[in-house]
Amino acid sequence: MTESRPVPTSSKLPGVGLSIFAVMSKKAADHGALNLAQGFPDFECPAALREAVVEAMSSGLNQYSPMPGAPALLERIEQKLRDHYGVDADAGREVTVTAGATEALFVAIQSCVRDGDEVVVLDPAYDSYEPAVHLAGGRCVHVPLSPPGYGIDFDRLADAITPRTRLVVVNTPHNPTGAVLSRDDLDRLADVLEGTDALLLSDEVYEHIVFDGARHASVLQHPRLRPRAFAVFSFGKTYHVTGWKIGYCVAPPALTEEFRKVHQYVTFCVSTPMQHAIAAFMADASFAASLGEFYQEKRDRFRAGLENSAWSLPPCAGTYFQLLGHGDFASESDTDMTERLLREAGVAAIPVSVFNEDGRDDRVLRMCFAKGDETLDAACEKLRAFAPA
Ligand code: PMP
Ligand code: GLN
Repeated sequence: MTESRPVPTSSKLPGVGLSIFAVMSKKAADHGALNLAQGFPDFECPAALREAVVEAMSSGLNQYSPMPGAPALLERIEQKLRDHYGVDADAGREVTVTAGATEALFVAIQSCVRDGDEVVVLDPAYDSYEPAVHLAGGRCVHVPLSPPGYGIDFDRLADAITPRTRLVVVNTPHNPTGAVLSRDDLDRLADVLEGTDALLLSDEVYEHIVFDGARHASVLQHPRLRPRAFAVFSFGKTYHVTGWKIGYCVAPPALTEEFRKVHQYVTFCVSTPMQHAIAAFMADASFAASLGEFYQEKRDRFRAGLENSAWSLPPCAGTYFQLLGHGDFASESDTDMTERLLREAGVAAIPVSVFNEDGRDDRVLRMCFAKGDETLDAACEKLRAFAPA
């Protein structure tokens, strides 16, 4: 008989459980509830995009692509950055295609954060940043965004930056609050970072989902931010294909070099036929250009459907998430409210406090409105009945 030794079980991420999105999607399914919790569209992606995948597979594009990405896709990304943002990037040295924005965020963090480094994140913060920082040996310093508009308090941000700060993470348009950074905000961010060695990780996955005539301000367009920035994008959000998990990272050559050292050992490359399908579909920029309008209609439909209710509706300038406040009619925590809403109204949401390190509870729930009109109308009816005006 072989000697059995105990398997080491100490966790590298002791505080981490199952992601709130997985938890809430399971609960929505278990309760037969409308799932406005996890962020994904419940409608189809364009048929032409699906056909382009079949075409790519049928024409034999089924082996590894080059590690940084399929040349056809890198070229399209370069063109999009030029046409859409007026940004010159050399895709060969500055763009890397990744398995979703999730991989890009993870790889960017692993490529620059060392043991003992500090990473500033703004709360409420998307859930994947902090575990990646911990795995790199770093520590997050949390700076709260200021409700109700959830703008950046630049004085507090400046106070949080120390000589140990390796990276600052921003997200615009912002999940979960729907806030967007303006050009002025980027100027102020540049002022705060001026003279420091901090790099910037900018999560811009909702770049095309901005409303009311505004345009997304990318850090890539900012001459003082661009040299220190990893900017991260996702085709999942833009083309209604969250399950494809394809995104990309744009960064100056020296940062991209480090980024690719990690990327090549995390995934090496991502699905070749999907990359070619996206490249073909990107030839026509009109789909992405109309995305803001498409989602603005949904935002407006959802908000209008809740007008005669007790829910408060903070502004939503971008993303496909609307916050709903219950502080005016109920005193329970956002997590308790989420549970009660699921049980009594059959609507699944995300409590925003889970994205706050200090557990701050503004009594707001996040609802995803990337849903068909029937689902949105049914959700509004349930939410109005739950909390009438
Ligand atoms: N960042 C933010 C802010 C997101 O909301 C998401 C996904 N919803 C991601 C990153 C991850 O994107 P992907 O699905 O392309 O990995
Ligand atoms: N980013 C999506 C959201 O905010 C969820 C992605 C995931 O489930 N990991 O809902």
